[in-house]
Amino acid sequence: MKKLTMTLVLLMMLFSSFLITAEGVQEQAMAPAAVQQEQAKYVILLIGDGMSTAQIAAAEAYLGAQRGVMTSPMSFQSFTAQGLTTTYASDRFITDSAAAGTAIATGSKTYCGAISVDESGTPLKTLVEYAQDLDLATGIVSTTRITHATPAVFASHNVSRNEENDIAADMADSGVDYIAGGGYRNFIGADRGLKTKRTDGVDLISEMERQGYRSFVSESMTDTFRSWNPRAGEKVVALMGASHLDYAIDEAHQPTLAELTAKGIDLLSKDKDGFFLMVEGGRIDHACHANDGMTSIGDTLAFDEAVQVAAAFYQQHPNETLVVVTGDHETGGLTLGFAGTKYESAYGMLGDQSISYENYTYGEFAAYKAAHTVQDAAVTDLIPSLESNFGLYDMSESEIALLQSALERSLGGEVVKSTFADDYLLYGGYEPFVMEVTHILNRRAGLGWTSYSHTAVPIATFAIGQGSDAFMGYYDNTDIFTNISAIMGVDTL
Ligand SMILES: [Zn+2]
Repeated sequence: MKKLTMTLVLLMMLFSSFLITAEGVQEQAMAPAAVQQEQAKYVILLIGDGMSTAQIAAAEAYLGAQRGVMTSPMSFQSFTAQGLTTTYASDRFITDSAAAGTAIATGSKTYCGAISVDESGTPLKTLVEYAQDLDLATGIVSTTRITHATPAVFASHNVSRNEENDIAADMADSGVDYIAGGGYRNFIGADRGLKTKRTDGVDLISEMERQGYRSFVSESMTDTFRSWNPRAGEKVVALMGASHLDYAIDEAHQPTLAELTAKGIDLLSKDKDGFFLMVEGGRIDHACHANDGMTSIGDTLAFDEAVQVAAAFYQQHPNETLVVVTGDHETGGLTLGFAGTKYESAYGMLGDQSISYENYTYGEFAAYKAAHTVQDAAVTDLIPSLESNFGLYDMSESEIALLQSALERSLGGEVVKSTFADDYLLYGGYEPFVMEVTHILNRRAGLGWTSYSHTAVPIATFAIGQGSDAFMGYYDNTDIFTNISAIMGVDTL
């Protein structure tokens, strides 16, 4: 009897799995014939560097706290297609932006540090180059130096992400119609009275102007850029900072990511064949490397404003547009919850921070360091500044003690790039005192960090418009290329 039951059970299991596979196979067989690949004339790809679900959720929780609700979703949360994406590189499970960017831009895995080349250094064709084959207008935008890894993989090829002068030269010859962001120092010569990293006497901006580009160089041209009305067929290079653009929280006199995106769409949409535009919120990553939660939130919200600009264009051209929002990897091991605050969270208090760790390090704190020694430096001197810049009131004895030992590290000539393992765990190679400040504020709010580097947790991808269904599910970052190229009508074979 017992044996009979077992046989019956086994048969039922076999029958049910057959059903699933039969169903699957059936489905498989049908799919290729039935579905006509939806095409898009306009493609906007927005990448939050270092942005995964934690960075998104932190920004939403902060916005919610500001509005008196539990959470307030980003605009792209309402996109119809959502998926999770793996990010590993060919030589490391935890990727860098160069390998991840190359995977998204070319569909190929490569080594960390590679700019759209394979392991042998052979260039890999990018979405921008495929778009140019289709006579689409093209654009790249970033809040980082435009020669930094993510924008670089779309418009240049190099065996090393560090060769930014060569990457700039590649970009100058790339034919890309709209190049906007930071990083004029890798393009300009020495006779402009501005900071330059070029020593070869070449001024790539002048060369691009000879090619017909209109140029906007440095913060001093921000108002000119804002009043510029794009005309069809114009080619533009707009580099509004020597290096990376400032963090949103620091409110510098520079165009925002949303403004750079809006001008780009305005210009490129005048092309009769359509366009491909890549927009990067590049400094979410930098803020998370430094474990500065509020600065990361500020740049994530600024990124969302750029997404809203793209979504508004989609609303005007729903049958011809694809908008994709993704990240290249997670940074910092950010999590919404911290041992010290157990089940509690208080993201609203982050709103009292009005400056980034970067501007505080190189501004007020640098001035304090210059005027003091390890013998006469005291946390009490800095309390007014911590209250006004970070909202750090009523500090406990243990918080003061942590700050005092960090201050001694900072003033004691313990150079930032400390070799002491303990120091690295505490301060991640950043200014010890400032790291302790943001750590205390983040812990009070209930934010936790596990690293000063990238992590390998999957990132979230969102899409709306033509062919967006392809972005549902669990897939790899190389599939983002495969989907976008198919929807753009590229024949990659
Ligand atoms: Zn990074």
